[in-house]
Amino acid sequence: MRRYAGVELGGTKCICVLGNAAGEVRERAQLPTRDPQATLAAIAAVLREWHSASAPLTAIGIAAFGPLDLRAGSPGFGRIGATPKQGWAHTDVVGIFRQRFDVPIGITTDVIGAALAEGRWGGARGLSDFAYVTVGTGVGAGLIHDGRPLIGCHHPELGHARIARAAGDDWPGHCRFHGDCVEGLASGPAIAARCGASAADLPAAHPVWPLVVHALGQLAYLLVVSVAPQRILLGGGVLVQRGDLFDGMRAHLAASLNDYLDIAELKTGLDRYLVPPGLGADAGPLGALAVAIETHVA
Ligand code: ADP
Ligand code: ZN
Repeated sequence: MRRYAGVELGGTKCICVLGNAAGEVRERAQLPTRDPQATLAAIAAVLREWHSASAPLTAIGIAAFGPLDLRAGSPGFGRIGATPKQGWAHTDVVGIFRQRFDVPIGITTDVIGAALAEGRWGGARGLSDFAYVTVGTGVGAGLIHDGRPLIGCHHPELGHARIARAAGDDWPGHCRFHGDCVEGLASGPAIAARCGASAADLPAAHPVWPLVVHALGQLAYLLVVSVAPQRILLGGGVLVQRGDLFDGMRAHLAASLNDYLDIAELKTGLDRYLVPPGLGADAGPLGALAVAIETHVA
């Protein structure tokens, strides 16, 4: 049996999974994300236990928070970019595993990984063009075009799209780089900074939610008019428990489109177009597993 290891490197926690080509997880380990050296060494120790002479790992896949250098042939391939996450900027994530394991190693962003997993096993099966959006500690979108991750001179960073503000809202936003980009308005930390309470503790009737919907509806609209995905899946910690926000986002998207485009996928109903992920909270770790599988096949 082929043994694939997936590592989801998250802002607060890392999840390692050992699984097979069908996406069946046999082992799972969770570690807190601390400084890069301690965190990556602890992950490597978990993988080392899963990698024995009699049962070697076939490949390792890493799905990491970004931004990441994913340009083929780049000397910095697999390095983290200018993350606000303390101590992690410019960490050579893939290099640390290459030094320790003589097996194929793949790396991509957490959202591209989740998109790959949704395409294989979840809510985007059978589609060639789709988007996976996470709304959690950050906001990010992984885009699949023609069955492959869409990566130009950089992976897309649509979570940082600059958008129109809701009428009367002049709160400056929470993104260190842009203030009121989508992430600066709709991420969990942005909601908490604006409201003075964790997003998880806010009632459904809190006035911040229409503002979050306003930002995410625009992100969905930007996706439709730029890459025209066949479906948009939206997950992450903020949305996983907030299924009630979907109708608002669909209504916002419909109003923005204003019947301009003749798209069959949209006509069958936005409730099948703008949807929660099929894999729920497992999209992240299964995404890392999908990266391992794709790396091995490639
Ligand atoms: P990460 O982005 O680090 O992978 P998550 O996707 O789990 O993490 O997102 C974490 C964010 O989700 C936190 O900012 C948290 O406040 C928010 N969150 C968690 N539970 C809820 C909830 N029930 N409602 C709204 N927001 C929530
Ligand atoms: Zn931003």
